Amino acid sequence: MRSPPESTVDRALASFQAALDGDRLAHAYLVVGSLRDEALPFAQGALARLFCRGVVRPCGDCPACRQVAERRHTDIVWIEPEKKSRVVGIDRIRDLQHVVYQTSFEGGWKAVVLVAADRVGEEASNAFLKTLEEPPPRCLFLLLTDAPQAVMATIKSRCQRIVLSSEPDVLPDPWRERLLAILADPGPQGLTGALLRSTRLDKLLSELRESVAEAEKAAVADDDEVSDETLLARIEARYRGMRSMVVRGILLWYRDLLMCVSGGGADCLRYPEREAELRRAAEALNHADAFRNLQIVEGMQRQFDRNMPADTVIQGAFGQLNG
Ligand SMILES: [Zn+2]
Repeated sequence: MRSPPESTVDRALASFQAALDGDRLAHAYLVVGSLRDEALPFAQGALARLFCRGVVRPCGDCPACRQVAERRHTDIVWIEPEKKSRVVGIDRIRDLQHVVYQTSFEGGWKAVVLVAADRVGEEASNAFLKTLEEPPPRCLFLLLTDAPQAVMATIKSRCQRIVLSSEPDVLPDPWRERLLAILADPGPQGLTGALLRSTRLDKLLSELRESVAEAEKAAVADDDEVSDETLLARIEARYRGMRSMVVRGILLWYRDLLMCVSGGGADCLRYPEREAELRRAAEALNHADAFRNLQIVEGMQRQFDRNMPADTVIQGAFGQLNG
């Protein structure tokens, strides 16, 4: 008799196995969790289940199982950020496209594992998106990340999510507190209020970028090997991730407002410590407006992904948001 699954990874693997047995695997999964302890072990386990030739799968002992474990299976492409830049470049994605559209060596599945999917540059992300949009048959994509907020939204929308960690993408303090202070301050009504909030949020983002730049510069202070270009790419990637956390922080605020409008209790709130302010703001809102707010904030993320200037995105959104 089988013992019950224990960890989150075990449970996720059991679901993966069930989907595989039922012939209903998605072609792409975004695996969210700590890379070393959760996402990578899940990927190894899932691939062993996919490629094993043993009787009870995964047997752990057949050539395929061993090749998966040693990362040398010919039908699996592993893509990791380059050591120096910590970014996945466009060249790696182009190589990948050649490989995935060929027939598999073993005549069965192919798989692509993108380790640190949040570390893919913009050009590379767009190239990768094309592959995801025209998936070759019997090719499984596993995108691993511990910072899902930094993965391009268009890529995420093509993937089924497997969440191995809870809350990996919460904005750290003091940024969270500062963001909440902006959101919770009703300020003047109308355009003046909207402009005031936009200015405050714009300032928060500029300071966030500065703080990220300082931290990344300090991290390479003694390393002559890191070029300016690489440093800038790191700062940009890290900032993009943090900015997405800010947008998510805003989204959670407006989700809380919707909860209040719909009569939800404090236990439904993501910011229970701000319940009084949320309830006050909710009084002036109807359900349609509260729901529309969420769409506006989601639109902000898409505009950021398209590289629209921050002040334009923010002013556009706050000009329309209610409450
Ligand atoms: Zn095996």
